[in-house]
Amino acid sequence: MSVANIQEVHIPMLEEKKVRLFILREDQRHTCISGNKWWKLKYNLAAARRQGCQTLLTFGGAYSNHIYATAAAGKEFGFQTIGIIRGEAHVPLNSTLTFATQQGMRLRYLDRTSYQHKEDEAVLSKLRHKFGEFYLIPEGGTNTLAVQGCDEMVKELPDFDVVGCSCGTGGTLAGIAAGLPDHTSILGFSALKNGEFLKEEINGLTRQYHNQIHTNFSIITDYHFGGYAKANAALIHFMNEFRTQTGIVLDPVYTGKMLYGLTDLIKKDFFEENTSVLAIHTGGLQGIAGFNERHKNKKLPILAN
Ligand SMILES: *Cc1c(COP(=O)(O)O)cnc(C)c1O
Repeated sequence: MSVANIQEVHIPMLEEKKVRLFILREDQRHTCISGNKWWKLKYNLAAARRQGCQTLLTFGGAYSNHIYATAAAGKEFGFQTIGIIRGEAHVPLNSTLTFATQQGMRLRYLDRTSYQHKEDEAVLSKLRHKFGEFYLIPEGGTNTLAVQGCDEMVKELPDFDVVGCSCGTGGTLAGIAAGLPDHTSILGFSALKNGEFLKEEINGLTRQYHNQIHTNFSIITDYHFGGYAKANAALIHFMNEFRTQTGIVLDPVYTGKMLYGLTDLIKKDFFEENTSVLAIHTGGLQGIAGFNERHKNKKLPILAN
């Protein structure tokens, strides 16, 4: 990786608290294979190529950043892609799925019950029967090779006291915990309501990855705003204000909640003076259009540029 793209944030609250806040702009790594998804796909694509697989198959919700990124990566690196989408088809397609099909991704829908069993051998062998051999990337892209990519994402970073990142499956945080030194304090902000499972999940992933568990991370479960992809006016107001103050656009599902949480902790003197904090912008900005579509008439729109 070339020199990390790190930007310092200047807002009055930080001056007052004497805490320095920096953002790792992984959202700017690639226009379509954004943020952590680029790193999670990197070694999976290499493995697919090594195995001679020309088709990638993966799973996700209708607004999934992972579906979007996999479709774009398939097009850019010469793989066929198949997206198995949770729930029913809606016409017209939303902006995420429109983009995915424009990249050449074939979409199939699985009802919510079957979707829960999507990685059972019975379901997978049906899919193989239908589509032929494929390289399977799990939902959200999390597996050991994804952890390896996220380890690489943070390997060459300068030293910070605290690193913050949003968590869905925990795959990204597992890589960060593996890649950063023991003395860094890593905070994983759960984007899901019941994020208590994440600690064990991450321990399992780093054990699989390099046979170690790490004590440099903890999971914060106070900033999910009611659950996955839920939001309220306070969150959207914060995101829009953050954009005005810093020029940095956040997404409502992950990075908005993480930065709301981090700045709230700073306000509450959770960190000592002179602490340096690095927030990882894991991307996901493609989701703003879909979010505004879904919440039209109800909430403030998220401003995206
Ligand atoms: C997918 C995603 C995450 C969550 O990553 P996990 O590895 O599943 O924890 C965080 N932020 C953004 C923007 C994402 O798209």
